[in-house]
Amino acid sequence: MEKSIRQKIREIVGREHCSDSREDLILYSYDAMNRRYLPDMVAHPQTALEVSRLLKLANERSFPVVPRGAGTGLTGGSLAIDGGLVLTTRRMNRILEIDPDSLTAWVEPGVLNGELQKAAAKYSLFFPPDPASMEFSTLGGNAAENAGGTRAVKYGVTRDYVMALEVVMPTGEIVHTGSASIKSVTGYDLTRLIVGSEGTLGVITRLLLKLVPVPESVGTMLASFSEIQSAARAVARIMSGRVTPSTLEFMDRNAVECVKAYLEEDIPAGAAALLLMEVDGSPSVVEEDAGTIEEACYKEGALQVKSAREADERASLWTARRSLSPAIMKIKPLKINEDVSVPRMKIPDLITGIEKLATRHRLTIVNFGHAGDGNVHVNLLLDPDDKDEVSRAQEAVRELFELVVSLGGSLSGEHGIGIAKAPYLGIELENSAIEVMRKIKQALDPNNILNPHKTFDYAASSLERELVHRHE
Ligand SMILES: Cc1cc2nc3c(=O)[nH]c(=O)nc-3n(C[C@H](O)[C@H](O)[C@H](O)COP(=O)(O)OP(=O)(O)OC[C@H]3O[C@@H](n4cnc5c(N)ncnc54)[C@H](O)[C@@H]3O)c2cc1C
Repeated sequence: MEKSIRQKIREIVGREHCSDSREDLILYSYDAMNRRYLPDMVAHPQTALEVSRLLKLANERSFPVVPRGAGTGLTGGSLAIDGGLVLTTRRMNRILEIDPDSLTAWVEPGVLNGELQKAAAKYSLFFPPDPASMEFSTLGGNAAENAGGTRAVKYGVTRDYVMALEVVMPTGEIVHTGSASIKSVTGYDLTRLIVGSEGTLGVITRLLLKLVPVPESVGTMLASFSEIQSAARAVARIMSGRVTPSTLEFMDRNAVECVKAYLEEDIPAGAAALLLMEVDGSPSVVEEDAGTIEEACYKEGALQVKSAREADERASLWTARRSLSPAIMKIKPLKINEDVSVPRMKIPDLITGIEKLATRHRLTIVNFGHAGDGNVHVNLLLDPDDKDEVSRAQEAVRELFELVVSLGGSLSGEHGIGIAKAPYLGIELENSAIEVMRKIKQALDPNNILNPHKTFDYAASSLERELVHRHE
């Protein structure tokens, strides 16, 4: 990046709010995908106007701009593949208003999800999207990735809670989308276009979000089954009844093995699948729904259903789910974490297919996730020094995606495409659909300034080269 461009960036955001020192650039060179690309500069604008001026400069002088929230993305969305400017939202971090009457909040994009949860709780409200990263990921990043969480089965995902946005378009215009009114069908739904666009179509600088009253009471249940098929039948029985759990998580045989050490007394011998479920509402509704769920689990052959109402007992049942990630890392130090989704009745077919894949490619694969919405986290556990295993895993990932699509599913339920899955987009989407997306990108970002390579054009060959390189 030329000296004169660096100087202009300093003038726009202020010398103290940007840096090109190597130490600072390294901090912004990776996200949770764990790959490194050094940007040329990082800037921390505070207003939409500053963002707009940066993007106009980028178009005039032809350098890439990569928006970045907290850098917790799992698919490389905030990586500066071609260098250029990383534009963070860390100084746009104010909760501007919480309106307890209209159940809404205006926020800036750098506010952490967990900060909004705390502020909303003062009004007995909450923001339903609850990614596991909620304490350290931003609302701008959640919107850009359309993040989901354990409550999605009842409450939906981020997209369902974004009413309006202020967005700086790739060419620098500041645009307001959506409406504070619940019903609005004026023009194209630009809010939905931007949400989930992974920072490729605009930089979000303000969000109007919906909030929901905190339920009076919550019940948690942990059910153990001897096989995944009976757990899946229990899910079907629960969902086709009149109960909608607020959480319905599952763990397969390998996942159960991982957490057994943490939860000996809660998991009976012979358990090969777990369902962690929650219901919320008034105390009487919670009692009734919890009873219905318990009955459904036992009818489908549950070995045991543990139930909790008080916060500390509930937290203890959640230990199984929360201890999974650290437990998995004890088996092998590297994991490829795919977050595929299938229609929920296809989960047993998916698990059976994954077991076959694991045997064929001699891999350890641990599956868990959101049974209620069919979003399964498939974790391939690897030894980074075993190049042959890494290469077998890459083959297995492609076959996994083909399996998922053959079951009517999707490559990503919540983590996005970024660069991690860009080479596989054509497995799910037909060329004509990809072409429409490309045309939208070209129309809004004719110079391909904003977050290039994400979603579409990251070649499989470079991905494979890097994966191998990373483990050398
Ligand atoms: C331990 C862990 C658990 C996780 N659990 C979940 C989970 O349960 N559910 C889930 O969905 N995800 C999960 N994630 C993934 C990640 O936290 C989410 O994708 C999150 O939404 C990313 O937010 P961020 O602020 O870190 O964004 P970043 O990683 O900084 O950026 C993500 C993408 O958003 C773009 N972006 C960021 N801010 C803006 C903005 N203001 N305007 C336009 N584009 C922007 C970036 O360019 C990038 O493409 C998890 C990650 C980790 C590490």
